[in-house]
Amino acid sequence: MLKRYMEFQRNTGISPYIWIILYILPFYFIFKSSSMVVIIVGILLTILFFVFYQIAFISKGWPVYLWTFILIGISITSTSLFSYVYFAFFLAHFIGNIRDRKTFLILYFVHLISTSISINITIVLQEAFFLKQFPFVIIVWISVILLPFNIHNRNERGQLEEKLEDANKRISELSKLEERQRIARDLHDTLGQKLSLIGLKSDLARKLINKNPEQARDELKDVQQTARTALNEVRKMVSSMRGIRLEDEIVLVTKILKAAQINFTGTKEFKLVNVSLLTENILSMCLKEAVTNIVKHSGASTCFFSIEQTWKETIMKIQDDGKFKIPEEHEKKGHGLMGMRERLEFINGNLEVVTEKGTTLIIRVPNDVKQTGKEE
Ligand code: ATP
Ligand code: MG
Repeated sequence: MLKRYMEFQRNTGISPYIWIILYILPFYFIFKSSSMVVIIVGILLTILFFVFYQIAFISKGWPVYLWTFILIGISITSTSLFSYVYFAFFLAHFIGNIRDRKTFLILYFVHLISTSISINITIVLQEAFFLKQFPFVIIVWISVILLPFNIHNRNERGQLEEKLEDANKRISELSKLEERQRIARDLHDTLGQKLSLIGLKSDLARKLINKNPEQARDELKDVQQTARTALNEVRKMVSSMRGIRLEDEIVLVTKILKAAQINFTGTKEFKLVNVSLLTENILSMCLKEAVTNIVKHSGASTCFFSIEQTWKETIMKIQDDGKFKIPEEHEKKGHGLMGMRERLEFINGNLEVVTEKGTTLIIRVPNDVKQTGKEE
């Protein structure tokens, strides 16, 4: 309980020890006075102050005004009776924690004005004891001006941060939902239709098998064909979900280069370790773009590909023996190389373009140390 209380007080930005001193201090001031009646009144007021102070924290709506006005009354009384001004500090803290902006501002000004007036009156009355602690009185007065705004702004910032966190969570949930809906749609459009067609056609074939075996055979052929197409579509869907593996991309670019009559040499078989799926997808995209550029711009007759791994990084090189074409001023600026750079930056990799004797792209990406081949 005490620990939780200390934790709460620490959250105010003021040391819990200062709070403890402030809780004990009123009694010191009260016992300074000589009259027994004043001491009893003082103790009662202090107890009432702390009780109402706790109640004020848990109340909502108009009672907040009521409790705050009572607390301000006690604070003014103790300032004039015992020269004890420090209740104002508690009030400043309480007012700072009021969430509603209008209530906060009204009570802030009421408290500021009443405290300033009571401090001034006590100074005018030349209370010797009050004047002795004048520097502390000034500190309290400054706190009454600044502390509520400080706490109020901090709370508002905290609320905004919470809202932002919530919004981010919602965005990620929505994007997951969107992805799930897309998969559901794809499944419905491809597999769903094909499976119902297979069902209908096999039913028809079963009915025709004795009456018209020839037509039944045709229907079954259709069933087989539809099942094959469905299987292909599922494969395509799965590969688009998983992203393209580098090995598959090499098969694709080999075909492209062959069609463009460009000789493809270099590493064909390799085994990557500590490379995440994301990194592999990005390497595949880079390879595809590099080969497309070779076909489009280089005029090369040979393309050389290599991929190597050191303990800390993977290095992929794509070289051609053509001529690097410096883009003309008036030409539309391409996005291929820039896109590669941006994607590589995302995984802390980089791209180097060497334009000597053709074009060489050197791509470096750091190895993923946590990867244990699970994704395989
Ligand atoms: P996009 O990739 O957006 O379709 P792009 O291919 O023109 O357009 P980039 O891939 O960024 O754009 O390439 C920029 C320019 O660099 C190209 O227009 C071309 O002039 C030159 N270039 C790139 N790769 C090669 C290469 N292998 N050989 C010769 N020139 C190249
Ligand atoms: Mg390009």
